[in-house]
Amino acid sequence: ADPINDVEKEVKEWARAKKTEVDDLRKQEKFRREFLSNISHEFKTPLFAIQGYIEAIQDDEFEDIDMARQFLEKASKNVDRLSYLISDLDAISKLESGEVPIQYTKFKINDLIKEVLDSLEMKAQQHQIKLVFKQKYDENVMVTADRGKINQVLVNLIDNSLKYGNKGGQTAVSLFNLHDQVLIEITDDGIGIEEKYLPRLFERFFRTEQSRSRQIGGSGLGLAIVKHIIEAHEQTINVRSTAGMGSTFGFTLQKAKQNPLPLPFPVMPA
Ligand code: ADP
Repeated sequence: ADPINDVEKEVKEWARAKKTEVDDLRKQEKFRREFLSNISHEFKTPLFAIQGYIEAIQDDEFEDIDMARQFLEKASKNVDRLSYLISDLDAISKLESGEVPIQYTKFKINDLIKEVLDSLEMKAQQHQIKLVFKQKYDENVMVTADRGKINQVLVNLIDNSLKYGNKGGQTAVSLFNLHDQVLIEITDDGIGIEEKYLPRLFERFFRTEQSRSRQIGGSGLGLAIVKHIIEAHEQTINVRSTAGMGSTFGFTLQKAKQNPLPLPFPVMPA
């Protein structure tokens, strides 16, 4: 063995490790900068709108009461948007800091899906979209997951299917059996997503041109939250979509282990 060679090797390795470390830090820093700049951009848009409506009404010449009502209505929509944004940001930062760890319990996934569908029924009617629980695998199947967080996943995905859905169309929720897991799919027949956007869909603040231009309220954080929750469960989520035809979002959950069957005779203690 050549000691000088060994030292040289060691130093090179050390330098390489340091470089990776620095690169990682730079990446994190860049990510943080972009995140902050995205946040301020997302806040500015509704704030400017609110300011604009207020200033218009404050104008001495402004007398049209109906118009004032409309402007106030619009300002109020933008206030809603800000408050969604804040609660989504709060959710994502709590998830990322690990402040609210995944709390696993066993529950019937069928019951949760039904509850969520019921809670969104009114909203679906407003959008004139039929909500259906289409394919039901075993009514009693139990999963092991964080019920509250999976509730949020279902709400976010179904809510999107209403926002980007097709008036007069439908949103279908389906439950499939995959050996140790179940697969839950949410399918709409709405605007769909162009293929080029699919890889970026789950990024924070990412919204397609269509959803921006359609003036559909949203923070661009819903899917980032969904992905976070599913990955924290060590499960997977994916999307299939055809622009103009509709989209399907699917995610898996772990089935709960069956309790062992009771023995047919009492076991005597040894
Ligand atoms: P947003 O608050 O904008 O809805 P999300 O993170 O939930 O944010 O979704 C990101 C983007 O993905 C949306 O802005 C929209 O462009 C697209 N998207 C999400 N769900 C659907 C869907 N069911 N159909 C079509 N596009 C969708």
